[in-house]
Order: sequence, then C-alpha cells, then structure tokens
Amino acid sequence: MTIAGSEIRAWGATAMGGQLEPVTIERRALRADDVSIRTEYAGICHSDIHTIAGDWGERKLPLVPGHEIVGIVDAVGPGVTKYKVGDRVGVGVFCNSCCECDPCNSGDESYCEVAPVGTYGIDDRYTGDYTQGGYSQGIVVRERFVARIPEGLDPAQAAPLMCAGVTTFSPLKHWGAGPGKRVAIVGVGGLGHVAIKIAAAMGAEVTALSHSTSKREDALRFGATAHYSTADGLPEELTHYFDLIINTVSVDLDVDAYMGLLRFNGTFVQLGLPSAPMQAKARSFTQRRTSLAGSLVGGMRETQEMLDFCAEHGIGAEIELIDADYVNTAYERTVASDVRYRFVIDAATI
Ligand SMILES: [Zn+2]
Ligand SMILES: [Zn+2]
Repeated sequence: MTIAGSEIRAWGATAMGGQLEPVTIERRALRADDVSIRTEYAGICHSDIHTIAGDWGERKLPLVPGHEIVGIVDAVGPGVTKYKVGDRVGVGVFCNSCCECDPCNSGDESYCEVAPVGTYGIDDRYTGDYTQGGYSQGIVVRERFVARIPEGLDPAQAAPLMCAGVTTFSPLKHWGAGPGKRVAIVGVGGLGHVAIKIAAAMGAEVTALSHSTSKREDALRFGATAHYSTADGLPEELTHYFDLIINTVSVDLDVDAYMGLLRFNGTFVQLGLPSAPMQAKARSFTQRRTSLAGSLVGGMRETQEMLDFCAEHGIGAEIELIDADYVNTAYERTVASDVRYRFVIDAATI
C-alpha cells in the first residue's frame, strides 16, 4: 500500500493552541505529476510552534505541522520524470504555487505572485486540498516541489535543511557571500547554525552574534572565525565592518545599531518576522549606501542547489533525534532555546 490514497497516522493538533496528539489523515490519490513519499524524518521548525499556538491565525483541524521532510518515494504518477520509487527526496516549506508567474518561471516559487502554498495548514487554491505536513507517515506532493536528497547527506540531518538550509542559503547566495566578504550571522539557533556552516563553506569570513556566550564554541566549530555576545550591546570594533548581516532572530532589534555594523554598500537581511514594525533612521541607509532587505525561504531551484552544496561540503544540521511522542516536550524545549540545534522526529515512531 502506498502513501497516496491511504489513511495514515500523524501527529497533529485537534485544537488551536493545544498539544499534539496522534491523529489519522487521508492522503490524496496519486495525480499525474504527484510523488508519493514515505516519511523517514521530519524536522521541528519554530514556525510549526507558532502555527499550532495560533499566533498566525486559525487553521482547519486537525492540523499536522512539519515542513522539513525527508523520505523515500513509494509511488509516482504517470507524468513524473525526475523521480522513481526508492529515491530519497525532500519536501520543504511550500508544496505548490501558480507555476506561471515570473518568480515561478525562474524557480523562485516562494515569491509566487499569486501565492505559494504552505506544506501544511493551508487550503491549496490550485488543487482544493487542505495541506497537512510532515509529522506524518507520508505525504503526496507535486513533482516540482520535491527535491532530491543527494547521496552522502545523512537523511536525518538533511531534514532541517529543507527549511533552515534554503532559508539561509538563498540570501547568502543572492547577496554574494563568498571569498573576501565579511558576513555576520545574528542568532545561533536552528537557522543560524546552518547559516554559519553554509556561509563558511562559501568562503566568506563569518562572525556569529548571539545574546550569550554559551554557543561560542559551537559557532566556532561550525566555521565562524569570531563570536560576539550582544548582551551588552554591539561590539565597537565591528562598526562599519560587514558586507552582509543575516538576521535569523525574530525579536525586535535596534535596527540602526545593526545598520551601523555595515560597511559601504552593505546589506542587512531580515529572515524572522517580529510582530512589531521595524524602525530605522534614514541616515542609517544614506551614509554608506546600505540596504535593509528581507528574504523568504527560497524556491525549488535554490533548494536543490543548496542540498547539492551541502552534500559537497559535508554540511548537515545539528540534530536531536526524537520519537514522535516526545514532540510536545520538544516544543517546550524549542521555545526555551533548549535544543542544539534542531529536533528531528524519527517518522518510524509516528
Ligand atoms: Zn520552517
Ligand atoms: Zn507563481
């Protein structure tokens, strides 16, 4: 029996703000361009926790989160050309888009001008399905939104790359992280630790900035050449220092202070979504022609490029592998920043 067309087990919420519990969901029957995937591993992303908590609005229930999925293809539709049964593949933050607009045509589906479809908790406007995520025995996804997990990548460590990996790889690549560039990564957490590894592998000089010194040794091990605590403000010696700052933290920051760390033509890239509006003085932008920018995940072209890059450079997420029934505790620990650095559910225990 394949995942497609089956009732399968999952862990989901039956009330907004509730605990996760075992639920049963149905996966659609295989369409021509569908790939049916049996989940091996599913990462726990902080956005799962926000969604379940109801921070981002009401969702249909039950709600099965998870958009860092690695698994094995167990069936393909007749129109599928890139994958066959037995292949190891990944699914990330988005599972559909219009596939016709300019961003979609360039493989940047996360910026679809109509709307990309989240891998869980969303009515897919193109298919009519309600999407359910990776804390489940399997998922059925259009071929276009499936990436190949290269040989040599540990599948459990690869799962978080499907969100945290591409979310950081994309802006690092877009803004030219590489030899001769000084890059700061703000926050050494789920996103930040992967960002340090990728930026270092790209050849940039990487500095980690985080609120405490407790992750200094880890940051250096991941490839940063320096780590600074920001507990007492930003270090004076970093003034006008960086070409690129990637902010992986969702708290309100003193944007002017961080812009002050940028050198001529530098860019500050925001990945997280703090609830309050960001505020900054115009002078912070004019004086050294700096930019304040944002980035949302990345498309399937960059997702595959990132996976191939990570395989080539031996990069995986640092993970704590858990059984499915540990998920509520894992949520509490993630909120308390008590995880190094990503929880990954062993889907065999779902
Ligand atoms: Zn995520
Ligand atoms: Zn589109």
